Amino acid sequence: MDYTKLTLKQVLDLLNEGKVTSEELTKQCIESINSQSDLNALISTTFDEALKKAKEVDQKRAKGEKVGELAGVPVIIKDNINMVGSYTTCGSKFLSNYKSVYDATVVERLKNADAVILGKANMDEFAMGSSNETSYFGVVKNPHNKECVPGGSSGGSGVVVASNMCYLALGSDTGGSIRLPASFCGIYGLKPTYGLVPRFGLVAFASSLDQVGPMARSSYDIALALNVLAGYDKKEMTSSKHEKEDYTKSFLGSVKGLKIGVDYSLFEMGTDEEVKQSILSVIKFYEQNGAIIVPVKVNNLDMALPVYYILASAEASSNLGRFDGIRYGVRSKNADNIGDVYLKSRTEGFGNEVKRRIMLGNFVLSSGYFDAYYKKAQRVQTLIKEEFSKVFESCDALIMPTSPTTAFKIGEKFDDPLKMYLGDIYTIPANIAGVPAMSVPCGKDSKGLPIGFQLFANKFDEKTLLNLANFYEINGGVN
Ligand code: GLN
Repeated sequence: MDYTKLTLKQVLDLLNEGKVTSEELTKQCIESINSQSDLNALISTTFDEALKKAKEVDQKRAKGEKVGELAGVPVIIKDNINMVGSYTTCGSKFLSNYKSVYDATVVERLKNADAVILGKANMDEFAMGSSNETSYFGVVKNPHNKECVPGGSSGGSGVVVASNMCYLALGSDTGGSIRLPASFCGIYGLKPTYGLVPRFGLVAFASSLDQVGPMARSSYDIALALNVLAGYDKKEMTSSKHEKEDYTKSFLGSVKGLKIGVDYSLFEMGTDEEVKQSILSVIKFYEQNGAIIVPVKVNNLDMALPVYYILASAEASSNLGRFDGIRYGVRSKNADNIGDVYLKSRTEGFGNEVKRRIMLGNFVLSSGYFDAYYKKAQRVQTLIKEEFSKVFESCDALIMPTSPTTAFKIGEKFDDPLKMYLGDIYTIPANIAGVPAMSVPCGKDSKGLPIGFQLFANKFDEKTLLNLANFYEINGGVN
């Protein structure tokens, strides 16, 4: 039997009932990875360690010993998350020879949960991008149409889940990088509340916005993963002390009385007609099932994108300062003095998009422009945060598209950064406000490409997102 198409929950049940072994699942996933290598979804694999772990877990189960919450389940992690002994390249030439010397907290938690880690997923360089085209290791292809991008920056993570290479992937989301590929690949992706899932060991892009989160083939799987990933980490300054919750208890089987906010003006931001109609029918579905649709106006939301490109680039220019050719990664062979080591290593090691962000970041932080750009952007961020707090006084969740379009053709936007940035118009506000947001599949367009809708909730209200997503998945979902 082919187990690769099942959900995480389904295989976990089979494993616990002794109907399948982790070794069998792991071998099938490896086979699935090998037979779909043309998608270019992985940068490196850790099959030997994975098979060893799978056998260990099988033995533990056979002996009746206690096993972890994801025991024996094959998973894949984005290549900007450190895992000791594995390559962590961040999709960059600069780190193409870098091997991690420690585990990120999320990796530690996956290992403690007895998950089987199969490898590291391809991604946009340093998570900067929306299409997975900026990776030094080449573009990732969308399994629904190989001429199309999978979305980014966690494109590899989206594809490994969508094409049944594993049951769960970790992505990171600074401005939409979990939700956009989830939407383009037709899977579920959650960006948790800022601080809920530890960032320790995630290579920093924009530290005040970065979050690690799960991507999977069902909303229940997202809840299972979040149970393992969420929770305070003393190694991280911004980690939240929010009390541990059981996210598998989110599913109420009803949306009656839930207030879902809709800002209809958001649908006029260059959104494809088919995407718009699809989201409107999801809204109708919720209403027909007893949810209360509340028309709202979220002011200043159009400012989120410019604010993001100032704040994220500023933070990136500072975070990427550590890549100097001395401490990490590839050092230029053409340098004969210390200044040249820095200059040439960075010139040769970083791709164009990364350089663009560093230049932009340095510009907005420079003394003559600091007040005009950086400070102003921070002020607008405060306004956006206040706006969301206000909205969540009158509704439990907000609904909107994840992306204005479905997956676009490889190369279509690559030479037009502004066009590329506009694709994040719906995802970025959640990062700017620090609230949780989830992309949920809702069918396909006439070209057969997946459409996703997006739900936002108040801080730490992941349960409402999961309940809404699951209700649609079970009762109205088109997968
Ligand atoms: N596409 C956005 C960017 O390029 C977001 C990336 C992300 O979330 N890591 O910055």
